[in-house]
Amino acid sequence: MKIDADVKRARQFKPDRKLERFVRQLLDRHRVNSPPVPVDRLVAELGAALERQSFVGSNGRELRGFYVPDKGFLKKPLIWVNAAHHPTVQRHSIAHELGHMLLERKDIHLGRSMNSNRRGKPQAFNIDPMEMRVRQFAAELLMPRHMLTSDLKESPINPEDDEAVKSLAARYQVSLHALVLRLDQLELVSPPF
Ligand SMILES: [Zn+2]
Repeated sequence: MKIDADVKRARQFKPDRKLERFVRQLLDRHRVNSPPVPVDRLVAELGAALERQSFVGSNGRELRGFYVPDKGFLKKPLIWVNAAHHPTVQRHSIAHELGHMLLERKDIHLGRSMNSNRRGKPQAFNIDPMEMRVRQFAAELLMPRHMLTSDLKESPINPEDDEAVKSLAARYQVSLHALVLRLDQLELVSPPF
């Protein structure tokens, strides 16, 4: 798997253990004990509306999702997800927007493709701190450390065993890419990169 650059980038950011605890408490409070983390249910239980629409026209695919806080004109906060993307991408978008909702609670947020900015150029390393926190939140939510740790304790995997990594990604309903980065970040496997 050729993800050296992403792994290096991810290693620049130390996961925030406070944020990890915050997410753990959230999961416990909502009785989420095993993967896949039910993001749709969490959105509902946290009092937000979830809207899925396919949006592909004029670079519409660039838009993964957005969050609109309740400013009085909406009955509740809204998380909108672009249904044109694969279900695992949608789950990630929902987790991401939920992060904005819980950590930020202010202006409208447009979630664009992680890999490009408006001009389609690779994103710079200096992403704003809130965005970094939100990305961390999404990883914590979809791939909680305690769940991964217990899964890997029960059945350790070799990161070079593609099938094993794939089946773990399927269990968490996350992309292979996201899982590999997370396993590396948590130092749960020694990566072959
Ligand atoms: Zn964001």
